[in-house]
Amino acid sequence: MTVKLGRYLAALTIAVPLSGACAQPRSGISVTIDTSAAEAVLKAVTGDLTDAESLARTALELPGIQAMIAKEHRYVPAASADSFIAAVLATVNGRGGEPFALREIRDNPAQVRTLLANLTSRKTELSGRLTDRLGMYAPRGLTLHTTLAVVLGSHQNGWVPDQKTPVFYIDAGFQSGDADALIAVAAHELFHVVQGAVQPDWSAALAASTSSSPEMREMHNVHAALLNLVIEGMADYVGDPRALPGDGSGIERARREYTRNLARSSESFALFDTIIYRLYRDPDAPLESLLNIGFGGSWEQTGYYVGFAMASAIERYVGRERLQELVASPPEDFVLEYVAVERRAADRNLMRPAASSVEAASASRRSLSAHGTPAR
Ligand SMILES: [Zn+2]
Repeated sequence: MTVKLGRYLAALTIAVPLSGACAQPRSGISVTIDTSAAEAVLKAVTGDLTDAESLARTALELPGIQAMIAKEHRYVPAASADSFIAAVLATVNGRGGEPFALREIRDNPAQVRTLLANLTSRKTELSGRLTDRLGMYAPRGLTLHTTLAVVLGSHQNGWVPDQKTPVFYIDAGFQSGDADALIAVAAHELFHVVQGAVQPDWSAALAASTSSSPEMREMHNVHAALLNLVIEGMADYVGDPRALPGDGSGIERARREYTRNLARSSESFALFDTIIYRLYRDPDAPLESLLNIGFGGSWEQTGYYVGFAMASAIERYVGRERLQELVASPPEDFVLEYVAVERRAADRNLMRPAASSVEAASASRRSLSAHGTPAR
């Protein structure tokens, strides 16, 4: 199904006046940086034992803390409101802060304190950097007022809990005290908010197929892998720390990580081709495991860099406007656009996807056109 952008715009444009804390949008996108949740956690874990419980309870009232606990709970079942209060008390008492990442904040609060002070004093500059960067790649005409909620104490770097809610979260404990590194991660997550706004529901597309037809299961699985590729690859492209300013240790480390991963594109493309080959030919292929191998953090998310390389080539050889259009298009269109670019460009640096991957993407596109919706 080709997503018609205009249909979504009315629902997405939130007709409220911008408050003073909200940066004036240079694109149609604005970002409000809210550090209150991280500050509340910092205050609770670095204070005295007499105040710890009341400060922890005050923190718990903030939506950012509730969202942080909900995210942790998905990976660590012990994470809850009660265990958060117990963890704050244990941390202040000099014991471990599990299941939350609180101990290191108590032991070394200076980095996070500096980071939060920077985010506050440079709020206009940093939110402007995000809106400028996102304005380059978001679909034209999109208006979106978003909130970057800075949290603390989780084991997650950044996330977007709900595809259609323009709020995203970054944990301040992951950035080596470097505000520029946090903004690069924020550009990646903010792009997910943009993609989520203009794309159809992707939770069903990424879940296991419910079809009894082997062919439909194969088509569902191929579509899921291509969707994962585009979502993460384009977000990594927009959040490329090498295209963003800063010279702190956090952003320098992120740049090295990108360079290291892009240097092994031939292996990353080969792995991607192998995953698509299996999904296209085996209706009983384990989708979740294969997506994890291709895109999961424990497998170094090599698929992100395959999508990055494709986005980079499309911008270079077709233009940024085409890349902007593809944000709202089916993922098959993005992959097939890259296939066409690679064939035309005569650029030895571009990786050639396997013929079986091209066949799978084309079949998935035909299935989409025939049914008007991704295979379930
Ligand atoms: Zn992502």
